[in-house]
Amino acid sequence: MKITTARRISQAFFLALFLWFCVVATVGERLWQLRGWPVNWFLELDPLTGLTTLIAGGSLYSGLLWGAATLALTLLLGRFFCGWVCPFGAMHHFIGWLGNHSKDPKERARRNAPHPAQQIKYFLLAFFLGAAASDLAARLLLGQGAAFAAGAIAIALVLAATRKGQGRDFYFIAVGVLLALWAVWSMAAPRGGASLLAGLLDPIPLASRSVNLALLPLADMPLRIAWPEPRFYQGAAMIGAIFLAFLLLNLWRPRFFCRYVCPTGALFGLLARFSLYKVGKREARCGGCMDCEALCEGACRPAGRLRPQECVLCLNCLSECPESAITYRPKPSAAGEVAPDLSRRRVLAGLGVGLAAPPLLGLGGLLGPNWDPRLIRPPGSLPEGEFLRRCLRCGQCMRVCPTGVLQPAGPSFGLEALWTPVLNNTIGTSGCQPRCVACSHICPSAAIRPISLAEKLGQGEYAAQGPIRLGTAFVDRGRCLPWAMDRPCIVCQENCPVSPKAIFTRVAYQTVISGLSAGEAGGGELAVSGRALRPGALATGDYYLVAGEVRARIRANTNAALSLEPGPGWHTPTPGSPVAVQVRLQRPYVDPARCIGCGICQHECPVSGKRAIRVSAENATREPRHSLLLKGAGPH
Ligand code: SF4
Ligand code: SF4
Repeated sequence: MKITTARRISQAFFLALFLWFCVVATVGERLWQLRGWPVNWFLELDPLTGLTTLIAGGSLYSGLLWGAATLALTLLLGRFFCGWVCPFGAMHHFIGWLGNHSKDPKERARRNAPHPAQQIKYFLLAFFLGAAASDLAARLLLGQGAAFAAGAIAIALVLAATRKGQGRDFYFIAVGVLLALWAVWSMAAPRGGASLLAGLLDPIPLASRSVNLALLPLADMPLRIAWPEPRFYQGAAMIGAIFLAFLLLNLWRPRFFCRYVCPTGALFGLLARFSLYKVGKREARCGGCMDCEALCEGACRPAGRLRPQECVLCLNCLSECPESAITYRPKPSAAGEVAPDLSRRRVLAGLGVGLAAPPLLGLGGLLGPNWDPRLIRPPGSLPEGEFLRRCLRCGQCMRVCPTGVLQPAGPSFGLEALWTPVLNNTIGTSGCQPRCVACSHICPSAAIRPISLAEKLGQGEYAAQGPIRLGTAFVDRGRCLPWAMDRPCIVCQENCPVSPKAIFTRVAYQTVISGLSAGEAGGGELAVSGRALRPGALATGDYYLVAGEVRARIRANTNAALSLEPGPGWHTPTPGSPVAVQVRLQRPYVDPARCIGCGICQHECPVSGKRAIRVSAENATREPRHSLLLKGAGPH
């Protein structure tokens, strides 16, 4: 079997496995659903997810060992992950092949020539590592020392740049200023927060998010295999468009994302430069047919001086060289190798921008005074600062949520929270199910820590701390039917899953028809005059005729007569005496001490646009600072 055939089989296998893991991450009764499948395996294999969560979160992420194994194999074999395993890479490879295979070899070789823009991915890697490390010193309690060190470096860089007085030293100044900014920030706000931004472009979270939130819902809409109801995700169009754009760019340059953007590829590239086994030429000279250049996926110039850091081990050159001049062996290429042309200044600038990004993002105040009560996180979520340091934006939790209540946060929540999970109680088939902890067990980075059902419900050993609250429901009296429109409704109270219920009602009688006079009575009916009634409109059981201080329930009505069910103390009003129709309302109130913020009331509210009862993040268990209740206050 040709080595390229083996590579294609491997790519197809891992792509199919990746898609399969997306499909099986479904909570349900069917045999194939979520039963021991390692659905996070690809995320764990990706070393950048492990590395950035380690740096930003300061804790060992469970999949890190897989990532370490991938890195170790890269040191041995080169970028095998990119060419043989990465499902996103396989998609790019295939689309690139579609766009390229019909072109003449010269044009293909031109498209596959190395380009300076391939350095961009290294700067992106530096940026993401910088963003993850921004808060590291503070968390290691080295805040002051690290800040002073950074400040000293910053001053030295600026001084060096000004002493030379050259425009080309702009980078020194930029890096110096950024380091100074970071130093000031570290001293002033040593726990100001960081955001794991790498998930925005890290290929495995990007592919997971796109498949989970855009592709799968689209594919499943006519089939209904993954979900019984169509699945909707807010902002899925943007997620899908970015994914599609990256795929389509392969038609212009094969493996566009891998060559120019992929920060994980950059990480692999830095190691692959020193890998034991490498592709290379046996002899410095060959026939010069350039077939290998026309087929090279990594744009690493196999016919000339090789760029091993760019080689994705597609092995097309090895397989197709008519003179068998290409080898894969523990020796550098006989034609020589070229190291990545990484300008240290630019890498430093990337790192510096990354270091400064979290403090700049933090200026929005999301973690402080401007905290967003719409950011209702799933049960078990860490406090917001910790959450943002860990969430990979992979979409696994949103994919697994059986109700679809978990949604990717849009840009209105701030860049630091973009595409992290947030509850939107109007979009799914229900709010957060009280007897479900699926998202907490699938989250690969423990941004949502694993919780048991007993902990979520506040039972057994967790009885003293009570159930996990996601937020609190608030009644909007301007939209609530009994409060604003004199219409009876107790849907929210009936659907509240908490026992005893967190929504209680208070009865109020409201006059809805006045100016009536009593007429003749007989046979359980009373004639009324003064205003024509709509026949049957008062027969719901919620309407009462009131005479003086006493009421009788209205069973039925015509336009001029009422059938009554007398209550205690009722006496038939004398003809001509004034009577009125009242509606009995049960107006809802929320007991914040009992409300868990599951959002089921919000989901069920019949005011189906902007709901009349809405949950916001106040009083969520994960953020004691946002507590609504003073300890011991309140009668309940
Ligand atoms: S615990 Fe709630 S938010 Fe999480 S998956 Fe279950 S229903 Fe969805
Ligand atoms: S919270 Fe959701 S999106 Fe974030 S890492 Fe966990 S599973 Fe992925």
